[in-house]
Amino acid sequence: NVLEQVVPDLYRDQCWINGEWVSERGRRVLEVTNPADGSVIGEIPNLGPADVKAAIDAASAAFRTWRKTTAAERADVLDRWYREILACKRELATVLMLEQGKPLAEALGEIQISADYVRWFAEEARRVAGEVIASPWPGQQLLVLKQPVGVCAAITPWNFPSSMVTRKLAPALAAGCTVVLKPAETTPFSALALGVLAERAGVPAGVINIVTGDAAPIGEALCADPVVRKISFTGSTHVGRLIAAQCAPTIKRLSLELGGNAPFIVFDDADIEAAVQGLMISKFRNTGQTCVCANRVYVHAGIYDAFAQALAQAVDKLIVGNGDAEGVTQGPLINSRALEKVEEYVQDALDHGGTLLRGGRPHSAGGTFYEPTIITNVSRQARMAREEIFGPVAPLYRFESEAELLEMVNDTEFGLAAYVYTQSQPRMLRMMESIECGMVAINSGLMTTVSAPFGGVKQSGLGREGGRQGIDEYLDEKYICIAP
Ligand code: ADP
Repeated sequence: NVLEQVVPDLYRDQCWINGEWVSERGRRVLEVTNPADGSVIGEIPNLGPADVKAAIDAASAAFRTWRKTTAAERADVLDRWYREILACKRELATVLMLEQGKPLAEALGEIQISADYVRWFAEEARRVAGEVIASPWPGQQLLVLKQPVGVCAAITPWNFPSSMVTRKLAPALAAGCTVVLKPAETTPFSALALGVLAERAGVPAGVINIVTGDAAPIGEALCADPVVRKISFTGSTHVGRLIAAQCAPTIKRLSLELGGNAPFIVFDDADIEAAVQGLMISKFRNTGQTCVCANRVYVHAGIYDAFAQALAQAVDKLIVGNGDAEGVTQGPLINSRALEKVEEYVQDALDHGGTLLRGGRPHSAGGTFYEPTIITNVSRQARMAREEIFGPVAPLYRFESEAELLEMVNDTEFGLAAYVYTQSQPRMLRMMESIECGMVAINSGLMTTVSAPFGGVKQSGLGREGGRQGIDEYLDEKYICIAP
């Protein structure tokens, strides 16, 4: 198999439970394919509930000792993991490209930020601090301790198979928690490779456990188990809702990074060239398959045509193809279901009166490749105005006034990211205050970084990842009242 040949040291087709690589537990296997050509690149165990329970028990046993390590000890382990990841950057990027499809340059960027999350939380481990509160009672002390939440489960998506793993595992470990990780079944090998490197870095047995297989039964087992104290999930709002419901009986802590419906707003005073460049990154990165991708492009009527033309020229420069081919900027969609969804959204937008400016069809490369697409004059009634496209399709909407714009922008159940292009400072201030979302980028198409809190409001999720805030998701506060 191709992965075994290309990255022999990092390839594992086994699960990692209690420090051991186990395959015999998987009664059946699942095939993993390269979305660029449909070829099988490897197989993973499809674990049953008993195996998931073994992983939870291992995490629970490991928690007893891991929680007692000092922050400095945990930081050292994470720091070693960071170095191992960087040392294997190229190999990890190759695994990521082969299972996910993104261009190698983008894959290399994702491995860098994966490593950076580990370093960031290695540093944050030492910054955890409690509180001493002014007491209302003479002679008494009121303290707040921060303690690790306990055994955590992480369920990660296929669009960032590497960075979503470290964004959850690094703060969990830094806080003193232990983890059961279930990577997306379409992209498990990046996670398993990170496991190999965690082992090399000296992460003790049971502190990280990786289970693979069918998502629904494994998710159910993780949610139902009272030993698991927290679930951190990144994926669709639909599955997030299901997980929240399944966690209700055991009242788990939840971090949910769910769907978005990001508005990308271009005012008539914006630098059009900069706005086009920002939109290209926000919209077409990862072939439109990120939760912060621009999903609705609102352009002021006064510059609408000029913006559309400039955007079309930029889109013409995109190169669709295999991730390892020279100059490629657009990989395939993850699978045929994703392709069908994009086709449905485009047809629906055209049925509602939209006009194709570029693309609009599956790409001649075949498979799940889709043409970079621009649709103008999209109706507010089109499905893509309310739902996440998750593909390389830029829908342009026209607006006249700020009031009308804000009404449209906030008319969604989602609230993850928003992008605003304007040179007017008062307008920036009004926009950053008024848009209902967790993150606003002003005159920038890319805002994700390890040092800032990433997350949404409304039905885009709960909690924050990255930043100073990221570690708090894995810490409980315990109030202590001491009388003399
Ligand atoms: P998408 O629809 O874009 O694939 P999902 O939300 O389905 O996004 O997938 C994100 C993650 O959620 C993946 O790891 C997937 O395996 C997992 N997942 C899918 N369905 C369930 C479920 N019923 N319970 C738990 N996890 C699930």
